Amino acid sequence: MTSDSVDYYEGTVKETHAAARRDVLALGEFDAWIGGESVTATEGERFATLDPVVGDEICTVPRCTGADVDAAVAAGQDAVDGEWGDYTPQERSNAMLAWVDTLQANVDDLALVESLDGGKPLKHALVETKYALDFLEYYAKVIQADEGITVPTGDNLHVYTRHEPYGVVGLITPWNFPLTISFWKLGPALAAGNAAVIKPAEQTPLSLLYAAELSADVLPDGALNVVTGFGEEAGAPLTEHPGVGKVSFTGEDVTGKTVMRAATENVTPVTLELGGKSPYVIFPDADIEKAVRDVAHGIFYNAGQSCDACSRVLVHEDIAEEFTEGLVARAEGLTPGDTLVEGTTIGPLISAAQFEKVTDYVELGKEEGATCATGGAVDDDDLADGWYVRPTVLTEVDNDMRVAQEEIFGPVEVVTTFETYDEAIDLANDVEFGLAAGVATENNSLAHRAAADIEAGSVWINGNYATPIPGGPFGGYKQSGIGRECSRDAIRHYTQEKAVHVALDEPSL
Ligand code: NDP
Repeated sequence: MTSDSVDYYEGTVKETHAAARRDVLALGEFDAWIGGESVTATEGERFATLDPVVGDEICTVPRCTGADVDAAVAAGQDAVDGEWGDYTPQERSNAMLAWVDTLQANVDDLALVESLDGGKPLKHALVETKYALDFLEYYAKVIQADEGITVPTGDNLHVYTRHEPYGVVGLITPWNFPLTISFWKLGPALAAGNAAVIKPAEQTPLSLLYAAELSADVLPDGALNVVTGFGEEAGAPLTEHPGVGKVSFTGEDVTGKTVMRAATENVTPVTLELGGKSPYVIFPDADIEKAVRDVAHGIFYNAGQSCDACSRVLVHEDIAEEFTEGLVARAEGLTPGDTLVEGTTIGPLISAAQFEKVTDYVELGKEEGATCATGGAVDDDDLADGWYVRPTVLTEVDNDMRVAQEEIFGPVEVVTTFETYDEAIDLANDVEFGLAAGVATENNSLAHRAAADIEAGSVWINGNYATPIPGGPFGGYKQSGIGRECSRDAIRHYTQEKAVHVALDEPSL
């Protein structure tokens, strides 16, 4: 497969996916990756990962448990005590950049794996895979420029700092952006000199396993370890492990709290990137067409399964009708379909459970008094085996409704109107989350005032909604998490700072 051949596969949806599955399975072992080799689970159990478009099994992967986590942590510690730990920052950087080159050389295949396992339109998966690699490359370069400080003192003391890796770090990722979120964490973790043990989500383990296999010739054994399995069986042992010096988690807020509690036992520091219910505030002077475009992308991309999706629109009442009409038209213009076909712009939800959750929320919204302006389940026999939901817009939503307060994690926009600036900001902040926000206005001063007043870790003004860039901090206020990823400083999450105090004697010569 090559980048310009989205329509490489032909036939019915079942046929294109069966052909893609054969191609994917020819790429690698898709076993757990520990100590530089593919391994099965200690207990020998496996579980299936499904193709969300057709509901069929792609393959099985090891159902790892505590014993496998122990083995992965031991392999990581061996790497830190051995070759990987001996690398200079420049050598680590070179190794990471060599991995990036290898991944880049296989980017089309990686994207195919990501598309098939995650139900993403292939074109989107390719863009995301390249984007994910940008973060690995970024951190490989950041570490080359990393510095400590010297503290000004008198003549008889010299104080300087060192940034030292924790050793082995535990990383836990969700299913919505498997490679991207893995590399957001692996980039700074590896660059800082740690070995990593990473547990991908049970629904989407394949792209990371393939990326790990592609590290075989470029990363020393044990620097990168991947344990596949279920949260309680493989994730929890990682968060509780005394050999793990740092935990970084992305996922649901409830799970994040469990992770945080588990980490208290060993006083393990945690970075948490949790959910959101991010507002997009549209002021009356906004360029409505542009705002419609940006909001539609912000809520419907990846079928709404983004932690920073702008899942609440707050629009000024004077322009609410025009904006909503535009958004509905845009929603209806998106094309749910076979993710391996060029024209498809929206794929299915990840699982039957997610489909049920999202469609239940749409029904709940109607019961709560909202109007469903467009959306609902996809009615297409060709897609009947997949978990498709049409882009949905709920209007006449009050901010205290559950559909305005809870993370739906699907292609469902809720629209609420406001009259005054203060009301807009109150509504924007009246949720327990604070991950992201959008602002649309042609008034510079208003834009910056709103950006300051909204409680969110990222604010996008007039476009590019929800695209963190390498170097731009990404993380949440309030219950959306602790810490920032993607930025230069994220590397500090993966190091401990040591102050060295050197007594300088009087020269005795
Ligand atoms: P979870 O928070 O349950 O899962 C995220 C990761 O944590 C997965 O790898 C999961 O493993 C693992 N995990 C689960 N339980 C534990 C545990 N006790 N200790 C350590 N790790 C654990 O999210 P889900 O994937 O189940 O999705 C549920 C909901 O979370 C979605 O409907 C959505 O609303 C939200 N979500 C939010 C995301 C965000 O970025 N804000 C991302 C993904 C989901 P396993 O996959 O095996 O359960």
